[in-house]
Amino acid sequence: MGHEGKIAAVTGGNKGIGLEICRQLGRLGVDVILTARDEAKGKKAREDLREEGVLVRFHPLDVGDPESIRRFREFMEKEFGRMAILVNNAGVNIDADKTGEEVDIETVSRTVRTNVYGPLLMCQAFLPLMRRQNYGRIVNISSMMGSLTEMAGGYPAYRMSKTALNAVTRVLAHETMGTNIRVNSMCPGWVRTDMGGPEAERSVEEGADTA
Ligand code: NAP
Repeated sequence: MGHEGKIAAVTGGNKGIGLEICRQLGRLGVDVILTARDEAKGKKAREDLREEGVLVRFHPLDVGDPESIRRFREFMEKEFGRMAILVNNAGVNIDADKTGEEVDIETVSRTVRTNVYGPLLMCQAFLPLMRRQNYGRIVNISSMMGSLTEMAGGYPAYRMSKTALNAVTRVLAHETMGTNIRVNSMCPGWVRTDMGGPEAERSVEEGADTA
């Protein structure tokens, strides 16, 4: 399908939708770097995929830590000198039980650091490599919960963070117009993961296939 040999990095690749994106990209012949903030969990995910016959590499990456992003960029620059596909999947949803009236700013701040600053810093780190090659595909995993036309109450920090992530996507998509770089965001639907819960209507396979 023309993907062989392309390099992809996936954030939050140790479980859920991120792990499944690593699996599906790996099966397409993409050279996948599975990243995770917890080294043990990331390596375990890599080993589990290896047992299924899907070979991926692992590198530690905490998207809430700009220094960790800098180290990952340096690694990619030295090891490969290129990056074709970036999937900003890592995310937190920690205010399910809160309203906009009562949510504390520390919760909003933690959510935004991971769900917005993380993807923005990742794009800033890797767009120069993509521009150098005039090729790049960035997929930001957003949510309907961030859609302004679908906006409702509850999950205030999570909703705001995904709206802001959509804005990051639109700004960068605009700024890369006329190049062979595409910046998109997508909603995976309501998916059965630790975040989505067991009642969710979609499997991880369905949640990951668009990315
Ligand atoms: P999940 O099972 O909770 O997985 C979240 C992943 O993000 C985990 O690997 C987690 O790592 C990682 N992560 C969190 N903070 C991180 C950080 N600072 N640095 C690096 N990794 C970090 O959730 P999921 O359902 O697969 O969600 C994946 C994405 O889809 C998220 O962006 C979410 O908002 C979006 N989404 C999900 C649904 C759904 O129904 N599930 C719906 C719409 C959108 P740890 O294991 O170390 O915590």
